Amino acid sequence: MGQRAVFLDRDGTVNRQVGYPNHVSRLRVYPFTAEAIRKVNDRGIPVIVVTNQSGVARGLYPESVVLETNEALQAELAEGGARIDAIYYCPHHPTAGDHPTPCDCRKPATGMAEQAAREHGLDLGRSFLVGDSPSDIEMAVRAGMRSVLVLTGYGLGEATYRREQWKNEPDCISENLNTAVDWILSRIDEENDE
Ligand SMILES: [Mg+2]
Ligand SMILES: [Zn+2]
Repeated sequence: MGQRAVFLDRDGTVNRQVGYPNHVSRLRVYPFTAEAIRKVNDRGIPVIVVTNQSGVARGLYPESVVLETNEALQAELAEGGARIDAIYYCPHHPTAGDHPTPCDCRKPATGMAEQAAREHGLDLGRSFLVGDSPSDIEMAVRAGMRSVLVLTGYGLGEATYRREQWKNEPDCISENLNTAVDWILSRIDEENDE
């Protein structure tokens, strides 16, 4: 038995989706993100980011850009009194052409969540994930987590035009990360009352 965590997708959920995030200067953290993460921090619940960064394998930007962007994100959150406890990223190529074999960490695979669970003593069955893409929600379902789809990033278009094609329905659809966190914390409060 481990503790529960809140997993977050990065691009489109914590910060603006900008196509390939190929330079640290493209980082735009949403104005509500620090407050949202701080609320989870205040409960003593680990906040874990899991992000697909296939631009590395595609040769669009070096792995150092991922690290630099993650550091810039943490620095900006620190100014708002918030902290991400760990960030995991998949730098690999999606299955295609010269890359027929998938890695086990690119979402919707569960490798990043499982690694986080091992390294931080987490119980995925009691954890939540927030993301803006169906692959985030699929990863949550495969890992046994509850999930929230936010309408930032790809979320609004997905919910408006593609819902019929989703493999999984999220447990909740919410306007943004801040409202998603409120939903998660109220579910946790309900469970603690039982
Ligand atoms: Mg995303
Ligand atoms: Zn991978």
